[in-house]
Amino acid sequence: MQVQDYKFFVNGKWTEGSATETFDLRNPATGEVLGRVARATKDDMYEAVDAARKAFQAPAWRDMEQTKRGKILLQLAALIRQNFEELAKTETLNQGKPIRESKADVAWTVRAFEYWGGLADKIEGETIPVTSNRLTYTIREPLGVTAHIIPWNYPLALASRSLAPALAAGNTVVAKPAELTPLTLLKVAEYAQKAGLPDGVLNVVTGSGSQVGRALVSHPDIDGITFTGSTETGQQIMGAAAKNITPVLLELGGKNPNIVLPDADFDKAVQMAKFAIFTNAGQMCWAGSRLLLHAEIYDRFLNELKRQTELLKIGPGLDEKTELGPMVSKEQQERIVGYIKSGQEEGARLVTGGSVPEDPALKNGCFVKPTIFADVTSDMKIGCEEIFGPVLAVFKFNSVDEMIHIANDTNFGLYAGVWTNNLKLAQQVVNRLQAGVVAVNDYLVAYPQTPFGGYKDSGIGYENGMQAISHYTRIKAVTVNTS
Ligand code: NAD
Repeated sequence: MQVQDYKFFVNGKWTEGSATETFDLRNPATGEVLGRVARATKDDMYEAVDAARKAFQAPAWRDMEQTKRGKILLQLAALIRQNFEELAKTETLNQGKPIRESKADVAWTVRAFEYWGGLADKIEGETIPVTSNRLTYTIREPLGVTAHIIPWNYPLALASRSLAPALAAGNTVVAKPAELTPLTLLKVAEYAQKAGLPDGVLNVVTGSGSQVGRALVSHPDIDGITFTGSTETGQQIMGAAAKNITPVLLELGGKNPNIVLPDADFDKAVQMAKFAIFTNAGQMCWAGSRLLLHAEIYDRFLNELKRQTELLKIGPGLDEKTELGPMVSKEQQERIVGYIKSGQEEGARLVTGGSVPEDPALKNGCFVKPTIFADVTSDMKIGCEEIFGPVLAVFKFNSVDEMIHIANDTNFGLYAGVWTNNLKLAQQVVNRLQAGVVAVNDYLVAYPQTPFGGYKDSGIGYENGMQAISHYTRIKAVTVNTS
């Protein structure tokens, strides 16, 4: 395979800036080098912020009618749709996930640009009654230049989740993809230019988090920061933002309870418990990584889940039959294996998995067998830390109070699933869960129109829906004396 060199995108131009080094991009299923991407420097990042600032002040963007801005995003959605197969294939080659999951991510991305493209001319202020001789109204203005730091687990879908509303609201943006997975976002930059986005409105800079990521979020000329990634990095970013009083939207980690009550639809709950943890090889902030089973169904559920898990087809994502792809990198593979060891040492019961696959065809890839631990407690590392891999921790409960205690006994609070046919009970559980998003008789459901955000260490603010527009705009209150 030919190894391709990639540049980054600043002010409408592809450039290597002042980069003298590159990153290797690898196919995590084979270890093969796919390409090399320029490792931008801080100066390159400063240039990107400068380009975004100039574009924000330029009439081409500032004075563009909202409807036209929306149409550009709709055109971008159309171009992404036209290049659907290529984008999905690129995502799988670069990130590792099964191709049907990459296709779902591209479909989500199209929907995101369509949703926020449609919303661009519906961002409204309000009139506020005060006195008869005064007219008071609000204007919603874009923030200015927004910074977007993207993780490697959903490189395309999570980039679009924040870029689309920021652009729809009239901001100009600088995005930094994760070191390991920049390819699909670079494609989006190419299509955005074709769709008619003026130069400097969307800039994508490839580089390390500690260098260019940090340079971006600490830049005094940034008006808003959206970060999706780990809680530790989120804390650092919030610290950097504090110096400049920059608003932050943080979407961080999770250790999410997926709760099954005895009256639930058994077959569906088993199938979805598997889906909730092994999709994207468990590399998901919203993974159903803690399965809470009522004692009445505990053994039967575990047996069936074990049986179905052992049937999962592990392999390279490009193989249409693959259900579980590799970890994104060797480093992540080693991290997950470390967590498995700690689960065994801390006395959890290994039900299935627990190692890398024996298949010699997979030895160069970053694979880990789908793993289930039973009899887990919240004080075990595998019971409280975010593993970010295909490792499920199963807890037993006897009462609703005990279940709520276990579910909330975590520093995180992003997502939760509840399985029951008793709607009254479901609502009681929903009310008591400390989680920003809850699915009842479902899991891994997200739409561009549904707010997504976490309690506790899982983040601050909401992505998606009208709530996202609030983050990317500020309000100006105007009073006119009419007397
Ligand atoms: P990470 O925090 O290591 O990196 C995320 C991004 O931040 C990367 O682009 C990285 O280069 C950049 N970065 C690192 N240090 C930085 C710094 N000091 N300043 C600025 N940028 C910096 O996270 P990851 O390993 O890529 O992603 C996994 C984590 O992301 C998990 O904890 C997961 O739960 C979380 N996540 C959360 C959501 C959500 O919506 N809540 C979604 C996906 C992933």
